[in-house]
Amino acid sequence: MINLVDLQRQFQSIKNEVLKAIEHVYDSGQYILGPKVNELETKIAGKLGVTDAIAVGNGTDALVMVLDALDIGPGDEVITTPFTFFASAEAISRVGATPVFADVDPETFNIDPVKIDAVITGKTKAIIPVHLFGQPADMDEINELASNHGLYVIEDACQAFGATYKKKRVGSLADVACFSFFPTKNLGTIGDGGIITTSNHELALKLKKLRMHGSSKKYYHDTIGYNSRLDEIHAAILLVVLEKIDDWNERRRACAKIYREELNAVLGITSPAEAADRTHIYHLFCAQSKERDFYLNLLQSNQIQAGVYYPQCLHLQEVYKNLSYQEGDFPVAEQLSQTLFAIPMHPFLYKEEQEKIISILRTSSGGKKK
Ligand SMILES: *Cc1c(COP(=O)(O)O)cnc(C)c1O
Repeated sequence: MINLVDLQRQFQSIKNEVLKAIEHVYDSGQYILGPKVNELETKIAGKLGVTDAIAVGNGTDALVMVLDALDIGPGDEVITTPFTFFASAEAISRVGATPVFADVDPETFNIDPVKIDAVITGKTKAIIPVHLFGQPADMDEINELASNHGLYVIEDACQAFGATYKKKRVGSLADVACFSFFPTKNLGTIGDGGIITTSNHELALKLKKLRMHGSSKKYYHDTIGYNSRLDEIHAAILLVVLEKIDDWNERRRACAKIYREELNAVLGITSPAEAADRTHIYHLFCAQSKERDFYLNLLQSNQIQAGVYYPQCLHLQEVYKNLSYQEGDFPVAEQLSQTLFAIPMHPFLYKEEQEKIISILRTSSGGKKK
């Protein structure tokens, strides 16, 4: 079986360093928010070019705490994409605000600034663009809309650590950004974790307080907070992964380049587009076909794992019935939910494996070729 992602191979490649790092933490007696977490926060802030990084329990908590820290709640609206992992909208609902969706661009699958403009109201407080599958959203246009209307911009960068937009890294492109360290994310650990990045120091202090039960002085509380922190063990592992991430992202990009060139020849399959002035770091490689089921079956019957991201748009989720959206409201997102399919993409995909995948897609392609 050729897997979509291969975490075993990935973590096997750094096993010795990781086990040493774990042993070091084990012996240190400091297990939560210790020196390794500090070091990780400092290194990530430095790498992204922001003043602060706040490590938290996971990417979803990062989004929830950021919205909370910005005093966004009941009666407020937050605009995001209907074509993303559920957590992007769930966080908005979790703080009691209302998610408002805006359709995506058919080429990049990212939220379309023109569609955002159309749904801004007096209640809008923030925009959450998602750098979907590792490709940065149209940040200049989004930031301009936000500054014209006095809105916050929160990057959901959970899928895009290391991606760049006009030579700047995601995580430094707006008021604040959220990352996830879930194992399958480009920068992942062997458990849950997340981090918030910002150059707003006041906001950072608020977030540091929120993650620790609303306390900045032990046993004194001036706000209701959370218990959402990063374990020392995960920080130690992530420091090892952080050393590799640029190389691993480069490997993903090299792999994507081959897919894009080779699949270009297949009638009925469209490779993902790379927008100008940015580096896509291919958290996922999602190709498009009107005959998706055919390809999913073909790959599966050849022991190649494929996946569908995402089969159901957020505005059509059961839980959001109360928002009164309907099928047809976001035609681009809906179309993508019916045509995109992910093929194996990770830094440790062997050349022979990729050749096999390409050859199967090329020779079969519903019998057709360009
Ligand atoms: C993974 C992900 C999240 C949530 O991160 P967790 O660490 O799993 O909570 C949020 N948004 C997007 C776009 C994601 O891919």
